[in-house]
Amino acid sequence: MTLVERFLKYVSFDTQSSEETGVTPSTPGQMVFAWYLKEELESLGLEEISLDENGYLFATLPANTDKPLPVIGFIAHMDTSPDMSGKNVSPRIVQNYDGKDIVLCAEENVVLSPTQFPELLGHQGEDLIVTDGKTLLGADDKAGIAEIVSAVVYLKEHPEIKHGKIRIGFNPDEEIGLGAHKFNVEQFGCEWAYTMDGGEVGELEFENFNAASAKISFKGRNVHPGYAKNKMINSIRIANRFMSMLPADEAPEHTEGYEGFYHLIGITGEVEQTTLSY
Ligand SMILES: [Zn+2]
Repeated sequence: MTLVERFLKYVSFDTQSSEETGVTPSTPGQMVFAWYLKEELESLGLEEISLDENGYLFATLPANTDKPLPVIGFIAHMDTSPDMSGKNVSPRIVQNYDGKDIVLCAEENVVLSPTQFPELLGHQGEDLIVTDGKTLLGADDKAGIAEIVSAVVYLKEHPEIKHGKIRIGFNPDEEIGLGAHKFNVEQFGCEWAYTMDGGEVGELEFENFNAASAKISFKGRNVHPGYAKNKMINSIRIANRFMSMLPADEAPEHTEGYEGFYHLIGITGEVEQTTLSY
């Protein structure tokens, strides 16, 4: 299987994680994908393959030299973001990208445009894998998994490249902030490891994003509108007042680099109760 074939197979699994279920992995689809990957790693002849009940899959490519070398690890996450569907992904390859708008979905007018995403222009002449605009692609982070598995295949086919013991680790629930939560560092047994989950080719990050999440509930009092004067308390309005008290410029669309932000990711509300998720 080529790298692209492998990637296209991986995105056919629905592994969207969920902030609501409270179990690990947060969705059963991630376990289905982990089982598939486990079989693939077995068929590739990797060793020390383990998949625990929380969906953490580890495997080893043994050293092919006697030299004492540190054990290094490569990590990627199996889940995709809860923000958008990752089900029935239908990928398409745009060959030899010409730098123009890419129409993902004509009937709903979903267009991937370098006007909004100028970084596209750095990829002219390359083949791009896109969606039909209705789902996530899931390249975050199935591209990472495809890279790692393909690299391991390459190393097996090229024994002239000498290396120490390599560990690979695939984890669930990174997108809901719980990827490292139940990661058994001792069992992974590496001196250090790299997470393949970046942006640009060749970029190496040595520090990580850190955030806290909050759910804020507002309780109101519902009264028939005909008799509501001085009685009704509309929780939607109170939540709205709260939102407008937070610094408006400290939002992801206005910040960069180390600047912190408040990111409102969801609202559910009725007169009686409104909940904001940050
Ligand atoms: Zn990621």
